Amino acid sequence: MPTVSIVKCDDYESEKVYSAIHRSLSLLNGVAKQIKPGMKVLLKINLLSSSQPPERAVNTHPVVVRALVNIFQKDFGCDVYIGDSSGSVKNASTFNAFRVTRINEIAEETGVKIVNFDKDEYVDVHNKDYEVLDKFRIARTLRTVDFVVSVPKLKTHGLTQYTGAIKNMLGSIPGNGKKNVHLIAPKPTVFAKALVDIHQMVPPNLVIMDAIIGMEGNGPNAGQPKKVGLILASKDSVAMDTVASTIIGFEPMAVPTIRFAHQRGLGVGELNTINVVGETITNVSVPDFQKPSSGAQDFAGKYLPDFLLALMFDSTCSTFSTVNHSNCTRCYECVRNCPAGAMSKENGKVIVDKKKCIGCFCCDEVCDFNAIEMKRSLLGRTLLGMAKALGVEKVE
Ligand code: SF4
Ligand code: SF4
Repeated sequence: MPTVSIVKCDDYESEKVYSAIHRSLSLLNGVAKQIKPGMKVLLKINLLSSSQPPERAVNTHPVVVRALVNIFQKDFGCDVYIGDSSGSVKNASTFNAFRVTRINEIAEETGVKIVNFDKDEYVDVHNKDYEVLDKFRIARTLRTVDFVVSVPKLKTHGLTQYTGAIKNMLGSIPGNGKKNVHLIAPKPTVFAKALVDIHQMVPPNLVIMDAIIGMEGNGPNAGQPKKVGLILASKDSVAMDTVASTIIGFEPMAVPTIRFAHQRGLGVGELNTINVVGETITNVSVPDFQKPSSGAQDFAGKYLPDFLLALMFDSTCSTFSTVNHSNCTRCYECVRNCPAGAMSKENGKVIVDKKKCIGCFCCDEVCDFNAIEMKRSLLGRTLLGMAKALGVEKVE
């Protein structure tokens, strides 16, 4: 039975964060024994944005990274690396992400090494048990270190509803490779399976989640910071996501990444078979955590059978992008990052070709000005409204 530890941590005061992470690890029996002096330890953080400051709650907070460096470098005597590839394909975006989060300063002060996955050597990975992605390219450092610690941020996500431990490993794929994943897996459930394919081949040894300030609403970039006040730790990413998503009010099995990873036996997605230590879920739950406005799957999951859900959300009721021109600064970051080539400039304005849009949320993820609005088709909105009005119950 996997263990997930939950420890309260009110804010990003350095000592509090260090103590909370320390306690979260001590509650996981046996983890400390696995970590030996001299081991190469990679902190695979979540650096989605290359421009949002830490208080926006988009990226793993630098104080959490600093505490982990102290623990692994000073307490355990390990050789520490910090790595990721940001969500944007713009040149130097990952470099800038390390800069705006000031994690580069932590590295300079402590002597740990920053690994910009976009500049790292790569290795090709083949997944013989794949459902969607049989092969993809990851940063080589993920294979050369002895121990990988995934450090996701607790956030909502318009496409996958929730983003945490499983999805954090998408950042193992450098730069443009992430765009290709969206092209190969353009629909929400297929994309979730692709994320599980990736996680299967790059499973971290340990997950420490930054859930002190999470992101609610239209995450992972355009939502609002929301205090959750927690650090969570586990060796099982699926169990971690199950517990974390429950805390913020999701039904874990309605989150596709959790459901598929559990079904594939990559971890445990059922709460009654997870050993929760430290705080209880009931004691720390945040029931008013806002869900993404486009993520109607969670709501619909209460009313519709799974096959109909997949049919609806992967086809006729899919989501498409629109631009709120009054917020748009014309930075064109979305145009550069659209994997489907659905965005273009027309007289300076960003135009979306709805026929080409695959609803991947890449534009939403990189827009720092809240100018992307993801909308569900009229048919999707109508069917959901009808299901709700009629009180249709889910049929398994
Ligand atoms: S929609 Fe956002 S990312 Fe795209 S050009 Fe406008 S401000 Fe930039
Ligand atoms: S317009 Fe946005 S949602 Fe549509 S394919 Fe391009 S990046 Fe994805």
